[in-house]
Amino acid sequence: MQRHITSFTRDAEGHWVARLDCHHPQHVRHRPPLSDRPWLTTEAGRASRIGAPLDCLRCDDFEWPAGLVCVHSTPIFDARRVPAGLLRDHTTRQGTWGRIVVLDGALDYVTAVGRHWRLEPGRGGSGVDGAGVVVPGMKHHVAPVGDVRFRVEFHRPPG
Ligand SMILES: [Zn+2]
Repeated sequence: MQRHITSFTRDAEGHWVARLDCHHPQHVRHRPPLSDRPWLTTEAGRASRIGAPLDCLRCDDFEWPAGLVCVHSTPIFDARRVPAGLLRDHTTRQGTWGRIVVLDGALDYVTAVGRHWRLEPGRGGSGVDGAGVVVPGMKHHVAPVGDVRFRVEFHRPPG
């Protein structure tokens, strides 16, 4: 998915790492002629690239970013009380990751990029404790499979 650069840091070996608005890191290198990024070598050059687009493969892989904290959790929904908005395609806010946590039963989690999962307690998801990983800005919806109880958590970096 296309993301945008929010800042630059260096890794333990001194290589430059772009921080993206999805909260994933991505190495960026100046190694001509393979990757010609002379702007990387100066502070002004790097500053000029804040906000620039970069493709994030970790988002495409539903990879949960390190260091997020839960900032909100919905009440527990059941099959008869699912907000209509969750049953239609929708997205989380920019920079907000979601975890769909099934407590009982099963829930289908369907994304607009062709990936889908049947979530059950503790399993079925794309990572984190079997929960469904909701990538910021990626359209998705859910569909109860019989009786189900679930909640959705929202995660962001601390502060
Ligand atoms: Zn990403």
